[in-house]
Amino acid sequence: MARAEHLEGLVALADMARLAEQAGAQSGDARVWLDFGIDAQGCREICGHLEAELQLSCRRCLEPVAQRIDSDFRLGMVTSDALAAELPGTHEPVLVENEQLNLLAVLEDELILSLPQVVYHDEAECPVSRDQLHSGEASDASIDSPVSPFDVLRQIKGKL
Ligand SMILES: [Zn+2]
Repeated sequence: MARAEHLEGLVALADMARLAEQAGAQSGDARVWLDFGIDAQGCREICGHLEAELQLSCRRCLEPVAQRIDSDFRLGMVTSDALAAELPGTHEPVLVENEQLNLLAVLEDELILSLPQVVYHDEAECPVSRDQLHSGEASDASIDSPVSPFDVLRQIKGKL
């Protein structure tokens, strides 16, 4: 792939409203590395990596747990849904309209897709877990299922 342009930097997590809906309000920055290029088929693509530390809520006690997100992705920039369907499976389609790419939204999507379905404290650090070790109760049978990353993906695709 011809490397046309490289970009790296920090993106403020507090600016990501959709991430906040999925994962609660965040602070700090995501660190991103992006290579913009053109693949062998002439498709414009972005190879990226992003890292962030999010505060997600523990499914047992609902207190925050620091969760490290580390994601590699490969995006194919397309101008229509038809072209998106032709992308190789290695690429996630990103719709570019009028040459405008909303990079922040793309990075936010990547973070949302990288969210773990469920997070827990280590048992020794979780107050509820400690209590349950004594009472012997089943932990999470009554808690609603978390949002699956695939549901999120469907929502995002529905918007393209
Ligand atoms: Zn906990």
